[in-house]
Amino acid sequence: MTRWSELEPTLARAQPIGKYTAARIGGPADYLFVADSGTSDATLIDVFTAALGAGVPVRVIGGGANILVSDAGVRGLVIVNRAGGIVWEEDGCVQVRAGTGLLALARAAAARGWRGFEWAVGVPGTVGGAVVNNAGAHGSDMAASLVEAVIVQADGALETWPKARFAFDYRTSALKQAADPLLVLSARLHFDADDPAAVQARMSEYTAHRRRTQPSGASLGSVFKNPPGDYAGRLIEACGLKGCTIGTAQVSTVHANFFLSDGQTRAADYRALIELVQAEVERRFGVLLEPEIQFVGEW
Ligand SMILES: Cc1cc2nc3c(=O)[nH]c(=O)nc-3n(C[C@H](O)[C@H](O)[C@H](O)COP(=O)(O)OP(=O)(O)OC[C@H]3O[C@@H](n4cnc5c(N)ncnc54)[C@H](O)[C@@H]3O)c2cc1C
Repeated sequence: MTRWSELEPTLARAQPIGKYTAARIGGPADYLFVADSGTSDATLIDVFTAALGAGVPVRVIGGGANILVSDAGVRGLVIVNRAGGIVWEEDGCVQVRAGTGLLALARAAAARGWRGFEWAVGVPGTVGGAVVNNAGAHGSDMAASLVEAVIVQADGALETWPKARFAFDYRTSALKQAADPLLVLSARLHFDADDPAAVQARMSEYTAHRRRTQPSGASLGSVFKNPPGDYAGRLIEACGLKGCTIGTAQVSTVHANFFLSDGQTRAADYRALIELVQAEVERRFGVLLEPEIQFVGEW
């Protein structure tokens, strides 16, 4: 096991991490480690445990597609996990490293004629982030196909969690609520066989639907969860907030639950816009919208 004193000099320091997020927002991480597909599981585990063992806080992110990172940035170590890899098994199961892109997995499953992951075709981010968030769309989600996942504990111990242990619910899981830092290392998913053309047709339909209904600029996807029986976007639009702007953060004119950023946007403005929208929807409709995105870093 590597010691922190050996690891620390090799890490990038004070690196802005906005470029690792979908909204392109966020100040520096004290230490940054970016894992790609050439990074072994052993190295990932080593980096994670060496920092935690030395009392350095660790935040693992994947595609950064559902997090708003503060302007002040993140204290401690940020691990950007883009370590991908897909191993197909015979029985419709697939073993996927957590840094695998959702789009890559959706395309690979479709090419093999496996159905069950078409929903992910327009969802940015990684398998790890999707497990934490129970990401989903078009009536399906991660919980529908996850069999189990390998989780690294702070001391480096590996645990295989069966699906039930994740307590999946709408865009959340036991991991999203966990107090202790955990690393999702890999996931095992199960798909069913289908006609490859039918799978491809559904993916094309979902892609076209997104192009029609969602903005193309930088964003974090849906900022708020839909409240029971309603849509956050409908409520925001009914408040007349489409196009509302703070700094360069803007409520999309295409889909009111998407907030756009332009590469210069301050996290403080993006968050202020979220709070303004939340307060206005509550004032008008008595509904307190719950953010789907997570606020990361020092606020
Ligand atoms: C344009 C756009 C459209 C979107 N559409 C959808 C949609 O239709 N449905 C939907 O559900 N979401 C949607 N999202 C949100 C986002 O794509 C999903 O939430 C996705 O699952 C986030 O994955 P990620 O890898 O980017 O996670 P991140 O944003 O990087 O992280 C999310 C959480 O997971 C944790 N995490 C990430 N990887 C690991 C790991 N390996 N180990 C431990 N913890 C980890 C992070 O610490 C954080 O708590 C959209 C986002 C955008 C920008």
